[in-house]
Amino acid sequence: MNHTSLPQPVTATTSPSGPVQAGSAGDLPYYISQCEFGLGVFAARDIVFGEVILEFTGPVIDFAETKRRGPKECMAIQIGPDRYLDTRPPGVLVNHSCNPNAGIRQDRCLVALRTIRAGQEIRYDYSTTMEEHSFTMECRCGSPVCRKVVRDFSTLPWLTQAHYISQGVVMSFILEKMRAGHARRNRRPVAKTLRIGSNGLQTAWSV
Ligand SMILES: [Zn+2]
Repeated sequence: MNHTSLPQPVTATTSPSGPVQAGSAGDLPYYISQCEFGLGVFAARDIVFGEVILEFTGPVIDFAETKRRGPKECMAIQIGPDRYLDTRPPGVLVNHSCNPNAGIRQDRCLVALRTIRAGQEIRYDYSTTMEEHSFTMECRCGSPVCRKVVRDFSTLPWLTQAHYISQGVVMSFILEKMRAGHARRNRRPVAKTLRIGSNGLQTAWSV
């Protein structure tokens, strides 16, 4: 994630007076409209748990390129250690919440994490895409569990991490990094410290 603040600077062609991308012919489950931070994405109808709301799309760029493009030109979602999706509307307009009603599955698809009623704003937790040791963002999402600052996924309380992992809404590269770190930690004592006596039993641990 390369956002610099919660209010999302946007250049989409929209009207401040109301929905501008309502589901024409009733096939889009969302519309874009004003929210407290600027523009946001809202449910055009009731959206059920697990339903795919939209797909994030855009060119893939690296970290240096996100910096070169600047915060207003590049609202990128991190999809790898040095890979970012320079997201386009509507995905780029989805705001953050510390208590989100949606999340990103399979690195691209915004899905509902609970029933979202028509007219409610759709938000996901930006930390589920962040592990770059670079970016933090002040949060004013208004949730009772607001963390006040949005940081990397690894900084979340482990129960929150476990919740998002169980929901399948954490970026693959973050999960891979966690698995690699876990494997390293588990390997260390077996490879370096366990001594086995001649009788085949463990006799000592050494550093
Ligand atoms: Zn918050």
